[in-house]
Amino acid sequence: MDFDMNVIDQLKTPQGRIPVHNVRLTQGDSPYLEFVPANAAERFTTPDQAMPRPASQTGIEDLAFVDKNGLLPLALQTGPLFGTDVRESLVDWQSAANVARAVVTVQEVVNGGKPLAVLQADEESQSEALVAKTLVKNVETGNDFSIFAISFAVDASIENGYVAHMPNMPWLKKFVGDEFDYVIGDIEHDPDGADYLTVTLFSFECEIAPLDFALVLSCFYDGAHAVALIDQAKKTIAGFGEAEGEAEKASLIRLDAATVEGKLDVWESELCEDDMVSLRHLVQALISLHLEGVRVDLFRSTEDDDFLSFDTYLAYLWFLFSKKLGDVKIGYCARCGKAFSLARRRGVPKKYCSEECKTAAKNDKTRQLQIDIRQAYAEGDGVSEIAAAFFPKQASGVACDKVRHMLSTWVELKHDVDADIAQGSGDIVKRCVAEGVFDQKYVERRMKALKKVR
Ligand SMILES: [Zn+2]
Repeated sequence: MDFDMNVIDQLKTPQGRIPVHNVRLTQGDSPYLEFVPANAAERFTTPDQAMPRPASQTGIEDLAFVDKNGLLPLALQTGPLFGTDVRESLVDWQSAANVARAVVTVQEVVNGGKPLAVLQADEESQSEALVAKTLVKNVETGNDFSIFAISFAVDASIENGYVAHMPNMPWLKKFVGDEFDYVIGDIEHDPDGADYLTVTLFSFECEIAPLDFALVLSCFYDGAHAVALIDQAKKTIAGFGEAEGEAEKASLIRLDAATVEGKLDVWESELCEDDMVSLRHLVQALISLHLEGVRVDLFRSTEDDDFLSFDTYLAYLWFLFSKKLGDVKIGYCARCGKAFSLARRRGVPKKYCSEECKTAAKNDKTRQLQIDIRQAYAEGDGVSEIAAAFFPKQASGVACDKVRHMLSTWVELKHDVDADIAQGSGDIVKRCVAEGVFDQKYVERRMKALKKVR
């Protein structure tokens, strides 16, 4: 019997999660998150409720909108995202977050929660289009098709990292349904050393003959990639290989490898309402890229998770996301503007991103109320008048006490009272006592104190 099992692997839940006790960010040329996993013995000796566990509502949206301050708290909740390594590159986390953010945003547009404009390039803010659309037209036949592309900077060289858990690239799938959409996932290496994860959707209005599609691929991908993609198409798309050699049937776009040059008009285009199905397909493709290593496992998993088990916790978060695409809805914090998920929350929609912002907003509100009330008093309004105006729903006794408290803790008013006592006019003192802001005892104490000072 082999007892030398991987301790971390043993800890892994069917959801691909590794409970961690702590996480820290190590800065440097290539910063990384270092996790301190719960130890294996704990898994069996510690009561379940004492094990580190994720917040019940942790979702892909939390990753999508994580910021500098939220990174470590989130990492503590999720543990490692990409498998069982206790070190994960910050670059990988950034890439995973960028992809999550793009997908959540596109899905929100698909759901009608955001305008298409958020996916387009914006000249004012000089932001690039999140989804680039290209129209291609065969000038001879008039046939056209659209290409939608979405691209992310990644580091494909990280071992066991983000990209390592994706399917082999290039990756090609055909959507079955009314539309004739083909999607291609690819990792492109820039000459300057950068890697890009690109998902490209080719959307044809009607069925395209395999030979035509092969020609399209050879137009838009370099030799080796095109060959690999056509090879994939033969393997994964039913009937694709059989049609080989039936050149006469490949008539839709009527491309001819020798004469493709000059026959295609290619131009950038704006997204429109007709593109919603294609945008939905892009989202589905991007989710699929994260669901490698998901298996049916009736022994370890439960019905709640459709009896699935997951290699990575990131895959599990994407799986949860895929189950509620129609609900994707993002709110923006009324105080700091940070985005957060509104899905899976019942009752009154949340206004703030966090408890901190909620408390701070409440304090802001109290502070403003205090300013307004003191202003009203300074302008000559009486306590009961102010109470009725600012706390109309409260019993007048309670409301008056609140107003008096706000006035009696007002440093400037205390100074005014002191000055009034010192100068002996008594108007301010009389008013405050009459309104119940300060009592006679307070005034006497101040008189004594001021005499001492003199
Ligand atoms: Zn906030």
